[in-house]
Amino acid sequence: MPFKIIGLFNQAIEFGYTYVEKVSDLVLEGSGVEPVEVYDPEAGDVEFQADPDNIQVLTCDSVTLEKKKDVVMYWRGRNDGKKRKFTQVQHKFRFVTQISQLYRWEKQILAGGCHRDKLKEVSKETYKKFLDLKQRHQRVTTLDLRRIALIKAREINCTNFKASETWANSFKRKHNIVSRKITKFVSQKDVTEKETIEDKALDFVLESRELFETHAGDTIVNTDQSGFELEMHAGRTLDVKGVKKVEIIAQSKSALTHSYTIMPTVTASGKLLEPLYMVLREDSGTFGPRVSETMFRPPNVFLSASKSGKMGVKHLDEYIQNVAVPNLAPRGVLVVDSWSAFSDENIMRNIPDDMELVIKQIPEGATGMVQPLDVYGFRIWKNYVKHITQFVIVHNIEFCFRQRDNLTKLQSLVYRQLGSPRFEGLFQYSWYKSGYTWERPEYFPNPVKYCFHGPGLLCSRCEDLRMVTCGWCQISLCAHHFLIEYHLCDSYIP
Ligand SMILES: [Zn+2]
Ligand SMILES: [Zn+2]
Repeated sequence: MPFKIIGLFNQAIEFGYTYVEKVSDLVLEGSGVEPVEVYDPEAGDVEFQADPDNIQVLTCDSVTLEKKKDVVMYWRGRNDGKKRKFTQVQHKFRFVTQISQLYRWEKQILAGGCHRDKLKEVSKETYKKFLDLKQRHQRVTTLDLRRIALIKAREINCTNFKASETWANSFKRKHNIVSRKITKFVSQKDVTEKETIEDKALDFVLESRELFETHAGDTIVNTDQSGFELEMHAGRTLDVKGVKKVEIIAQSKSALTHSYTIMPTVTASGKLLEPLYMVLREDSGTFGPRVSETMFRPPNVFLSASKSGKMGVKHLDEYIQNVAVPNLAPRGVLVVDSWSAFSDENIMRNIPDDMELVIKQIPEGATGMVQPLDVYGFRIWKNYVKHITQFVIVHNIEFCFRQRDNLTKLQSLVYRQLGSPRFEGLFQYSWYKSGYTWERPEYFPNPVKYCFHGPGLLCSRCEDLRMVTCGWCQISLCAHHFLIEYHLCDSYIP
């Protein structure tokens, strides 16, 4: 990863945002990729034995080479070329205890440091080389580390250093380096292409920043489509250790593969603009007249349909006319990904003459790096929906995920919940994390934590089990009071 982009996206790393280490064997721990346990013959059972490389360390004193240089310079540093008195040296440097130290240190300085200094140097240089290799997507093994260290030791005349396996193990521990399963092989061409995309992404962000300066945060929006399975489950469950089959029941197997699309709109100021645009899957591609008449239409959702549950150009027209224009007129910025339908022409033909709209289309391949909704948005969204699904299934709530009205109700509620002023910081953060601003939003609660994992497990209206704590009014509600009775809250209690 080029260093300039590291600077820009440094904040991303803490949240496990990663598009870097894909081709690694030994990599830094905490790089964001889920640790995968693999058998590594190198990692074997290394017994702790006396290690010549480390025993030496104990015989060295703990004063750094730099400090030793200071002391010896002072001791030798009289103008007439004579040495200063030992008491004088000791007065200035309290840690000096014997005159023999001064002679010994002088020798060490001339030899390029004591053994301990040299070991430190070897470790530092080996680490540098390791990072360099990883940046160039090279596979690195423990044996490679030992070889690198040994060559370096030879260069600086660090005698007796054997670059033993034990040394390598403690080196890896110190630098959080572990064995990792290689997830992908890439060619030099891939690497170059990725760097080109990163360059484009960076240019895009820098251009956008300039543009954003002349627009209010409420009028800069990002929108994107995201597919949801009718029934969204989390991928993990508790089970007894060692159990071979971990099978989980679903309401309907087809609901796991069929999907619908939502297209939310998020402002740079962290607000979710209503209505939420939503496309359901209908066999005929539209809602029939009877359905149209009787179906539930949530006030904060604009509903549409297609044969696949996916969006086409027609849906984009609807989105622009019914969501973008009413919210952004007379002037705004629309940040969209590189989906071909998002062309200037397709969008502009729906924009009234007196409206000024700038479309910023994210370069192809860079969406995962600089599209706020992708960088930090949809993941929490899906997690929220999965928590509700989990509750419905485990507690046998009568709420079928294949029913049209239930899906719209669910998304309507989730959209309103995530749009609570309490969570504005979350969506501000997604712009910040994508690099559009240097201003890190202040603390904001994570909606999933706040709504599902807060204190108390009971509904405050009926003593039944709590499904969520409302992000607006803070009241804890059971499935009946939240989902069935449709708690579309807008009374905010800070
Ligand atoms: Zn209740
Ligand atoms: Zn409420």
